[in-house]
Amino acid sequence: MSLKFIALSGTVGVTENLYVYEADGKMMIIDCGVGFPDLEMPGVDLVIPDFSYVVKNKEKLVGIVISQGHEDHIGALPYLLREVNAPIWSTPLVTEFIKDKFIDYGVKNFTINTFNPEYEDFEVGPFRVFPFRVTHSVPDTVGFAIDTPEGRIFHVPEHKMDQNPVDGKPFDIERAKGLANDEKHVLFLASDCLGSNKLGFTEGETQIEGNMEGIMKKAENAILATAISSNIGRFQQMMNVAQWLNRKVVLVGRSIQKKIEIAYKLGYISFPANLVVSFGDAARMKRSELMYIVAGCYGQVGSSLYRISLGEHDRVHVNDGDMMVFSADPAPPYTKESEDFVIDNLIDKGVDVHYYDLNEGLDEGIYASGHGGQGDIVELFKIVNPKYFIPIGGTIRFMHSYKKLVVKNGNPPSSVLTLKPGENVIFENGQARLGDKIPVKAVLVHGLGVGDVGKVVLGDRAILGNEGVVVVVFKIRQGKIIDLPEIISRGFIFEKISKDLLDEAAKRLKNQIEKKVNIKKSVIYGVTMDYLGKFFFQKTGRRPMILPVVVEV
Ligand SMILES: [Zn+2]
Repeated sequence: MSLKFIALSGTVGVTENLYVYEADGKMMIIDCGVGFPDLEMPGVDLVIPDFSYVVKNKEKLVGIVISQGHEDHIGALPYLLREVNAPIWSTPLVTEFIKDKFIDYGVKNFTINTFNPEYEDFEVGPFRVFPFRVTHSVPDTVGFAIDTPEGRIFHVPEHKMDQNPVDGKPFDIERAKGLANDEKHVLFLASDCLGSNKLGFTEGETQIEGNMEGIMKKAENAILATAISSNIGRFQQMMNVAQWLNRKVVLVGRSIQKKIEIAYKLGYISFPANLVVSFGDAARMKRSELMYIVAGCYGQVGSSLYRISLGEHDRVHVNDGDMMVFSADPAPPYTKESEDFVIDNLIDKGVDVHYYDLNEGLDEGIYASGHGGQGDIVELFKIVNPKYFIPIGGTIRFMHSYKKLVVKNGNPPSSVLTLKPGENVIFENGQARLGDKIPVKAVLVHGLGVGDVGKVVLGDRAILGNEGVVVVVFKIRQGKIIDLPEIISRGFIFEKISKDLLDEAAKRLKNQIEKKVNIKKSVIYGVTMDYLGKFFFQKTGRRPMILPVVVEV
């Protein structure tokens, strides 16, 4: 008997959550999320976990259990289900988010088992899973106690202990305590480490409504507000404020419209039917009677808010004297630059913008993190009291700080298992040892291609983006170059001004090649790359991509 826990993806990089449990020759997955491209991945839409190991062992796979509705926990499901077939388990809101995603991706063959975390539990192969409610920035998020052949473990991907959330459904401390105390020993706790550098408990959400109202009641023209599109609680607060201020709400952006529609149907958000108006109705109303709730809180390129900030949105525009409230801080990696870009553009258009680091003598208190601070993390330690600890969902520095918290709370350093993607632990007779690392790589998605963009393509994109490209066309007949080669460039130099430089390059290059005895294609390619590379670098200090083309005439 043994239990294997594999951090296939989701440690080190915050997003792309995917953990594998193996016992009795069966395999269960927890979460299946996407990551977002970094600045060195031009053109890449998404990053997904490397499924190779799961696909290789797909006959062992008995189920996929999902903890919450954020993209970094459900976004890669359509890609995984192209390769394997297994039932999914999730809470009601998450089930609807997944179904909506499957419609977009055309995924048709799937089974989703919806569970109620207040009292239900379920079996996935050799594992018995007991979900319990936690608080996070999207409703219906859960943690799990799981019975394995090696004993009970706890897996809590993201949480804060907030006892007073907007939806009135707090972290279910009683159920979690019960599940922890049922067993003499909990073998391990895998839990959220992202807030491990933050002192105390993460602030609650309820006071945000009053803070937003205090700011928004000063608005004289249109109000725009944004939060991450799954933050149903925040939208509820914005809609409450809109009603207090006698404004109608316009929902801008498909992601927000869909998520609010789903949450409304399931009763996770409530508002009078006449509160939300269409673009057409809004056009006939005074701007002072409107609140736009807009998608794109991180200023994502192409999002509704991004286009509004550039004056490129066809239905919504901003005027001098409008107000914009960002209920989001750019916490996810690589979001600060884009959010700041949008904030600057809006301010430049005369909008009164309230955003994450605007400190006019006081913190405006218009957002809260969904991740617990040190207080929340340690409280979970105390509830579960496990033998081993596995920090997940944070970068290396947060795993390190989590480890310090564990030690500070009286546990030996050896009780903390920090795993990088592909690393895994085998538990046998209550003892942990590291297994052989499973090779994993970043899988990038661009358009319809999955995994076909790798290091080489990204390297080329970086050169094209930074240095430009030069195409050199030769005409040859019977081993002789006819005419001067034609040189065409893009993104390298302005050709009209630098025509002399390109003419000189063509002449010198032809001479160089003609020094060779045997003028074959391979010789022409080699000399062109080598000679022109040096020549352009000497003259310009730049290293464009050089593409020789030989045409036989
Ligand atoms: Zn989340």
